Amino acid sequence: MVPKQIKKVIKIFSDFPTVGERTATRFALYLLGLDEKSVKEICDSLVSLKKEIKLCSFCFNPFTPLKDENICLICRDKKREQTLCVVERETDLWRMEETKKYQGLYFILGGEIDFLKENPLGKLRVEELKKRVEGLKPKEIILALNPTRDGILTMDFIAKILKPLACGEQSRTIKITRLGRGLPTGGEIEYADEETIEKALEGRR
Ligand SMILES: [Zn+2]
Repeated sequence: MVPKQIKKVIKIFSDFPTVGERTATRFALYLLGLDEKSVKEICDSLVSLKKEIKLCSFCFNPFTPLKDENICLICRDKKREQTLCVVERETDLWRMEETKKYQGLYFILGGEIDFLKENPLGKLRVEELKKRVEGLKPKEIILALNPTRDGILTMDFIAKILKPLACGEQSRTIKITRLGRGLPTGGEIEYADEETIEKALEGRR
């Protein structure tokens, strides 16, 4: 009944985060109703998304390289402080950068621990984070995950894992802090206003 080309597009959209089959079907029919030029524009922008954007090899922030560099502008900036702010997602980094209240470096962890899954760590970049901490030896690691239940449990886990690296005998002690009051419990950094982020940074402990 449903042509296989439409089914295929529905299947593609159904795999998107937060999109169910109903919404996926609406998307597919919406595309069907567009003229060819608009559809081509969508296809082209998807291709250039993959072709022209790189993930920073230090912090995993997506960026557009000018030549063949592997490190994003933030990580390349020598004026940045040697603190490492661990965030969940790209959008958290972007939000914090917008406020201009943080002057250090970042690391995008890639999500939270999902305790219901067989492999709770999933694609979290825990090993990469350990390597960054060992390599950079930041003076402070700020765990800036969202203060939701899973976010807090994830920060507990990360703090435990980083602890041995942070107080190794030969290396100087690295402070591990979390964002302070200001961000409501269950709140999300991505949607926090400038003042809230500033207060949370100032009050970190
Ligand atoms: Zn970077």
